[in-house]
Amino acid sequence: MTKFVFVTGGVVSSLGKGIAAASLAAILESRGLKVTLIKLDPYLNVDPGTMSPFQHGEVFVTDDGAETDLDLGHYERFITTRMKKSNNFTTGQIYKSVLEKERRGDYLGKTVQVIPHVTNEIQDFVKRGAGIGTDDAVDVAIVEIGGTVGDIESLPFLEAVRQLSLKAGPNNAAFVHLTYVPWIAAAGELKTKPTQHTVQKMREIGIQPDALLCRADRPIPDDEREKISLFTNVARHGVISVWDADTIYKVPRMLHEQGLDELICMKLQLFTRPANLGRWDRLVHEVEHPKAEVTIAMAGKYTELSDSYKSLNEALRHAGIHHHAKVNIEYVDSETLTPGTVGDLARYDAILVPGGFGKRGIEGKIEAARYAREHGIPYLGICLGMQVATIEYARHKAGLAGANSTEFEPEGPHPVIALIDEWQDADGSIQKRDANSDLGGTMRLGSQSSDVKPGTLAHEIYGPVVTERHRHRYEANEKYLQRLQEAGLVISAITQREKLTEMVELPREVHPWYVGVQFHPEFKSTPWDGHPLFISYIDAALKHRQQRLKETTA
Ligand code: GLN
Repeated sequence: MTKFVFVTGGVVSSLGKGIAAASLAAILESRGLKVTLIKLDPYLNVDPGTMSPFQHGEVFVTDDGAETDLDLGHYERFITTRMKKSNNFTTGQIYKSVLEKERRGDYLGKTVQVIPHVTNEIQDFVKRGAGIGTDDAVDVAIVEIGGTVGDIESLPFLEAVRQLSLKAGPNNAAFVHLTYVPWIAAAGELKTKPTQHTVQKMREIGIQPDALLCRADRPIPDDEREKISLFTNVARHGVISVWDADTIYKVPRMLHEQGLDELICMKLQLFTRPANLGRWDRLVHEVEHPKAEVTIAMAGKYTELSDSYKSLNEALRHAGIHHHAKVNIEYVDSETLTPGTVGDLARYDAILVPGGFGKRGIEGKIEAARYAREHGIPYLGICLGMQVATIEYARHKAGLAGANSTEFEPEGPHPVIALIDEWQDADGSIQKRDANSDLGGTMRLGSQSSDVKPGTLAHEIYGPVVTERHRHRYEANEKYLQRLQEAGLVISAITQREKLTEMVELPREVHPWYVGVQFHPEFKSTPWDGHPLFISYIDAALKHRQQRLKETTA
């Protein structure tokens, strides 16, 4: 029988609800339970695929091709259960489904209302996410509700989970509420009033939290915890202090030490072996005791917001952990990179061009790829970064002046990157993109496999087959592949089904480490094993650093 833990938030957003939920899941998993995590997003977008990274942060992609909230990335990095489409849904999806049913006549002429139709739909989606009724049913489903209590949008979700907890029964559902306890410098005090109010708000809608995770910049002293307990009707041992940690990997231990998992297991009557957080402790030790370091230049567009490249940052750090090295990531705004300034990249140990959409900053990224190629600096191009490397190679090595992607220049002379239906056009002319095409539905998404060419760096890293996740529309244009290969670019992996270019690289005789990948390897990296591509890249960066330092001291 599947039990539920509902995780809600109060006072303000961005307190780390996703990390808290994932940490609880990790502890429960270490107790031998089968756990999954489900994220409910109260906004009206059907999925975050069409939202700007400035608005929303990274869009995480699952194996089955869902474009999801970035919290699902944390979930996959913290627990072993893999996330699917059904692990994340939005108000938009709920309404879409309800309206489709209404049009089909499924409601038999009834008036369709938020309660019960929308709230029932939410409950069905939660149960589906938990795998109830299938072989994948979990012991515990941790359900994180996005937004904060008091938002108009969150209300149907809170009502739905309240009903679900009632139907499940008292020992089958628990509520954890994440709140904020601000430090007021002028008074020299931690203030509990916002927490009192947010719990009142919860109780108004019929939910009494079993545990409070009190976020503050420092540990909360016992007398303040006592006060919070008294005012919120949460048992004293349920008032848990969650202070700022320098690494997210410390959070599972922090919660466990204060008895959160024990409280949840008692409430849910789950009798398990004790938690074992040994691997988290070893991970924290590794993070805190690096023996080397590297600094990577990431030439991107969304440099103001580190959440835009969440999984990528994590993947680089995981590979660092594998090499006992600290990985520093410096964002370089690609709009500032010109032939005059690109020389500044000489002081980095490696260059990375991440994924992205739209024209802005493109020429700077091309400069970065060129600089890395001409100066033997390890280069990793991800998705757009591979496309940029291909354009650069076409322009400067294959004699294709003005080469570009039709994403940035629809009528250019050499569309080396283009939409498939553009480059497959029989008479050789470039078709205009359909301006009305559905931006939410035309991507190559999710997991796909490719064959890897023997004797390449890609083969050394992945072996004969590479299976990674995708999120893009444009592809390397088949018509130019021969020309590019003759000019020395190696196409080291092609998809098994459509024979699309998946990886490009430069031969070792020409460059120590230069790789572009059309997929997003960062989505599959975990702190436990790292990821073979990033491990190889960081290894090259460490070597380049050594050589660079030797040259500067010589
Ligand atoms: N904009 C490019 C495309 O759609 C690359 C996308 C990406 O980097 N994720 O193909």
